Amino acid sequence: FARRAPDYLAGLNAEQRLAVETTDGPLLVLAGAGTGKTRVLTTRIAHILNTNRAWPSQILSVTFTNKAAREMKERIEKLVPRLEAMPWMGTFHSIGARIMRQHAGLLGLTSAFTILDTDDQVRLIKQLLSAEGIDEKRWPAKLFASMMDGWKNKGLLPKDVSPADSGSYAGGRGAKLYADYQARLKTLNAADFGDLLLECIRLFRENPDVLAEYHRKFKYMLVDEYQDSNTAQYLWLQLLAQGRAANEANICVVGDDDQSIYGWRGAEVDNILRFEKDFPGAKVIKLERNYRSTSNILKAASNLIAFNEGRLGKTLQTDVGEKGEPVSVTQVWDSEEEARTVGEEIEQFHRAGESLNSMAILVRASFQMREFEERFITLGVNYRVVGGPRFYERKEIRDAIAYLRVVAQPADDLALDRIINTPKRGLGDSTVQLLHGAARAARVPLLSAIRMLVETEELKPKQRTTLRSLVSQFDDWAFHAQNLPPFELVEKILEESGYIDMLSADKSLESEGRKENLKELSRSMEEFDTLGGFLEHIALVMDRDSPEAKDAVTIMTLHGAKGLEFDTVFLTGWEDGTFPSQRSMDESGRAGLEEERRLAYVGITRGRKRVRISAAQNRRIHGLWQSAIPSRFLDELPADVVEVKDTGSAYGGYGYGGRGASRFDKSDPFDSVYETPGWQRARAQQANRRGPGPLTIDGELVARSVDIGSGSAYGMGERVFHLKFGYGAVVAIEGNKLTIEFEKAGRKKVLDSFIKKG
Ligand code: ATP
Ligand code: MG
Repeated sequence: FARRAPDYLAGLNAEQRLAVETTDGPLLVLAGAGTGKTRVLTTRIAHILNTNRAWPSQILSVTFTNKAAREMKERIEKLVPRLEAMPWMGTFHSIGARIMRQHAGLLGLTSAFTILDTDDQVRLIKQLLSAEGIDEKRWPAKLFASMMDGWKNKGLLPKDVSPADSGSYAGGRGAKLYADYQARLKTLNAADFGDLLLECIRLFRENPDVLAEYHRKFKYMLVDEYQDSNTAQYLWLQLLAQGRAANEANICVVGDDDQSIYGWRGAEVDNILRFEKDFPGAKVIKLERNYRSTSNILKAASNLIAFNEGRLGKTLQTDVGEKGEPVSVTQVWDSEEEARTVGEEIEQFHRAGESLNSMAILVRASFQMREFEERFITLGVNYRVVGGPRFYERKEIRDAIAYLRVVAQPADDLALDRIINTPKRGLGDSTVQLLHGAARAARVPLLSAIRMLVETEELKPKQRTTLRSLVSQFDDWAFHAQNLPPFELVEKILEESGYIDMLSADKSLESEGRKENLKELSRSMEEFDTLGGFLEHIALVMDRDSPEAKDAVTIMTLHGAKGLEFDTVFLTGWEDGTFPSQRSMDESGRAGLEEERRLAYVGITRGRKRVRISAAQNRRIHGLWQSAIPSRFLDELPADVVEVKDTGSAYGGYGYGGRGASRFDKSDPFDSVYETPGWQRARAQQANRRGPGPLTIDGELVARSVDIGSGSAYGMGERVFHLKFGYGAVVAIEGNKLTIEFEKAGRKKVLDSFIKKG
């Protein structure tokens, strides 16, 4: 070798090194997971700095998350001695905001402008709707907010949107509302999230001198995760790259078309596919060596993603040099057993000396997190939830619990205060203050004060009516609390208080997630006989505010895990309807399902040493068992790297079928019990309690049997099995409640639907 490579280049393979040293001219690095794309970008920045090609401030580097930017900074500090400043690094949004602040005057703002969050945004839209006399019930503000986000993601200003683009929203007035909204933001000296790119684009287009300033400034541009950039981000980059002829632009983008998972948020995988057209003469470098995962893991991932059509196609070879453990697939009885099994394995690995930091549980939807959190609390294992609050800290869960607290304990003023105007009941701050004042004066709880006040003339008639009905609702709920099981009570309260309607009216994906979380809450209450028992459990769980633990298992969504890696990855809930999501399966065309499959690919490729997949055979929804069908993605894993495990309690066998047959048990032994509206559900539950046999509702066969595992008719002394308490014998029967003398757990009262014949 003619020259010895500097240390920071020494570890790279030939292609990676080429990508680092090809500093000038457009460059696309297109490569599969774990091939070192992010590492190449980081090293490239170090190389540009170490060879004095540019000052730090002349480098622009875009990452997908702020966390990724922080990690990149730390690495660069190590690779570049005597670093005096940092390159411009951050997400598209954070860099956009920085540019906007420097030229705020040109955008009709001051440099101290506020960045609005989604709640602010919706509040503002509501004001505009009411000013225009548009009925918000008919034309929800959230719906308009997501329409506007769509336009902003596409880089469309109000002048680019025609009345037809807003469809029938508010009778075709969407385009005008958009213009009004943008004007209003200016008077508020504010920008919303989408503006951080859109207004930047406007700045560049309307002020060529400003754009020219950035052309002179940024000598090198780098973008990670380019496959998930949207149109506005694309336009923004194109504008900045125009400082040079397209074939001389020093722009380097890296990405993987198989990891494009934000299509639902406007990302355009085409951006990466057309890079060579946008920048003629661009060099394309492929990295094929994977430094992250064992060959078994890679083989599973590659096989699965091959089921997608319209891929660029890439080869991946492991550099890890070991086949490693097989990818395991465990069919468990239900999500509780899933949490127990995962918890046990984590404890085993931990005892064997592996750190908790090296393990992650990846879920498709956040409602799946709760069961794991509770398990870890029981086991005393540290965990962190990334990208969102812990389950019981979520707003909707706290709201629901606040209702329950007032029902159980009418003097709980804090709880009442939380939900007195949620959903909105027209009780503003001044009214609430008045109520509190009266309570203090009379030295009684808030609810008692309200009872007194509604008999007086202190309040406006409308508020009096509202409060009177709220009080009687609480009385009614308190009455029902005595005989309804807690999980039914919470459903009743959420329905009758208008809470569910509030979420339904709000058409965002976020509120769909909130509804799912509330269902999960009710599910979690099924094991409690009394409201008091449940609330005590909650109080104990919530009290444990563990400070940010140093060593902790990570629980996060698959979407949040992009770009990360862990020694051991648990991929949970691989059932059709959970993953792939019901939404993607209902969609016509394959786009939705293909995006889910890419998400599965992202999930598997996060694992370095071990990937553990689990699928529950049953999901319990509203007290009824639903048999779940194993995810179609399981059949797309190559048999020779997969090990199917049996926990012993899952129903039936796996029937490793012959050629072409599914390896996973998809026979639906009891038929599905379809989710039915409230009244039907109540009747189904009654039928459920009466015992096995066909369930009919109004003469229509709903299911051949609804009572998986219970059989219901138990005799005294009979041996039974309970998932949590193990084996035991029946010692007393009281309707659907049985008292069991468990061999290990002692005497417990359980519901018959929770046990099987032993
Ligand atoms: P993803 O597609 O998941 O974002 P990636 O292509 O960005 O993955 P990196 O995260 O950069 O991949 O690298 C994956 C792992 O491989 C990291 O732990 C990285 O440090 C390591 N790695 C990359 N290149 C090399 C190399 N030449 N020698 C040793 N380890 C490497
Ligand atoms: Mg990466």
